[in-house]
Amino acid sequence: MIDTHAHLDFKEFDEDRKKVIRRACEAGVKKIINVGCSPEHSQGAVDLAQSYDQIYAAVGVHPHDASRVNNEILNDLRKLAQNKKVVAIGEIGLDYYRIDADLTLTARIHADPKELQKSSFLKQLNLAKELKLPVIIHCRDAYGDVLEILNSFSGDKSILGVTHCFSGSRKFAKQFLNLGLYLSFTGAITYTKNPDAEIFQVIKEVPLDKIMIETDCPYLAPIPHRGKRNEPAYVKFVAEKIAEVKEITFKDMEKVTSENAERLFKI
Ligand SMILES: [Zn+2]
Repeated sequence: MIDTHAHLDFKEFDEDRKKVIRRACEAGVKKIINVGCSPEHSQGAVDLAQSYDQIYAAVGVHPHDASRVNNEILNDLRKLAQNKKVVAIGEIGLDYYRIDADLTLTARIHADPKELQKSSFLKQLNLAKELKLPVIIHCRDAYGDVLEILNSFSGDKSILGVTHCFSGSRKFAKQFLNLGLYLSFTGAITYTKNPDAEIFQVIKEVPLDKIMIETDCPYLAPIPHRGKRNEPAYVKFVAEKIAEVKEITFKDMEKVTSENAERLFKI
């Protein structure tokens, strides 16, 4: 398996990072993509990728930190991306959930927070295009606007990527797929009890060659670890759930999702 979205550089892993990575190996997680969400965590992701063969890095600034994305930060990301272990720009995107509470006071005073996020997203999409790297998209309560921005690149085949922690509707899923993007799912899919829930319809409809698995650890631990710290070893619970919904074997699920991640990130 490949955990395509982890934050192992976070302080939650300071006490036992080595053990967590060993447990992932023992559970059959062959590769991990550690995703940056700020300039500091992008550096952290690269440092971690340099210390472990099986860890790769993505560099980027999360929409919560949109107000920090200026030319200097973009240049820092550009420099970090020269490292061979950097395989994507991310996580980047739009997050309109609790937008006023999450953005810094300065950002709210100087600009419309949504416009600020859009411009930071666009700048980093252009960076990905320039560097010929795929993107890892974070999208919360903002599917329409994310798609509108991605559509402005639609004539240009050079934007490739994945929408991580997908939780949108079938309609939105279809639009991402039409743009050639992959969809990735976290342990959040194990929380839904209703078998007719829309998220399971989405999973049924995503072609096997467009699906990926991730933990987003330390967040979103799947059942049976819900509420505790998540870690890459638990990505198997996500794979199990998707295999069950798609009615394929765990082995096949493991194989296709790994092939997809290897294809997109060239790892
Ligand atoms: Zn994340």
